[in-house]
Amino acid sequence: MRVGRNKGIAALFKSMGIFPQKRLGQHFLKDTLVSQAIVAACELENDDVVIEIGAGLGVLTLPLCGKARKVFAIELDEGIAQILRERILPKDAKNVEVIREDALDFDFHDTHRRYGKKLKAVGNLPYSISTPILFKLIESRDALSLAVLMFQKEVSDRIVAKPGNKSYGILSVISQYFAKAESIMVVGPGAFYPQPEVNSAVVRLRFGISRTVVAEDETLFTAVVKAAFGKRRKILRNALTYGLHLSLKEVNNVLNVSGIDGKRRAETLSVEEFVRLSNILKEIGLPIQR
Ligand code: SAH
Repeated sequence: MRVGRNKGIAALFKSMGIFPQKRLGQHFLKDTLVSQAIVAACELENDDVVIEIGAGLGVLTLPLCGKARKVFAIELDEGIAQILRERILPKDAKNVEVIREDALDFDFHDTHRRYGKKLKAVGNLPYSISTPILFKLIESRDALSLAVLMFQKEVSDRIVAKPGNKSYGILSVISQYFAKAESIMVVGPGAFYPQPEVNSAVVRLRFGISRTVVAEDETLFTAVVKAAFGKRRKILRNALTYGLHLSLKEVNNVLNVSGIDGKRRAETLSVEEFVRLSNILKEIGLPIQR
């Protein structure tokens, strides 16, 4: 992979008074090929409204605001947000708003209501908040059409994993039910300053896609998935009994009606099978503690 301008980056940061903080997951992208690929993966149209999570020093913000109608650049670090606002973004870039806020508090629904069109979320975000952000985006899915996000490679493997794969788990089933998830590219540590210790990968999630199977109760579906994977070494029958606080008899009944062998393990079940299981549980109407 080609690595972009590297020379003197530390000195440049120092002169701007920036000392990258591990606590905030500050690994700034320096490889322009990667930033270009992220922006391209957003498939921007000129009326798009983009929410950038962890904007940093604007490596993505600048190309995004040249292509979208509006960019909300969310950045938690006050100092970085100020540099982005005052020294990096061009004065005439009227379609960018830098918001000094925790991205986990951003209200996607409210912004969607104000603009009409479904939002696109993008970010090379700190790894410490990547899973909570993913769940927040999934919860906000009615307000979103697409998300392009950088994850730790290990997390991206879990998001896109198929049944039977060692990375297949709660994150895979939930992400793949609520979105179409695909890995766009793997990114090595050399693409960032300072370098992280692990590989990363860019993932694209498409929301609002039509499904072949529909969970009638999405909260119940999520509860079933969590219970099934809750005790990884257990066979499905026991994991569901324990995780859903049901009797073995009740669980066996649900599994029989679903046509799913209770001796299987959660990691072998497809997303469709989890949906079927939760729909039958709903139909039978057992009292589930969630
Ligand atoms: N997107 C930039 C910056 C990546 S580093 C680039 O690619 O170069 C991640 C950025 O997220 C940092 O600037 C960090 O300060 C910011 N950040 C960390 N936690 C955040 C949070 N909870 N909400 C918003 N931004 C956050």
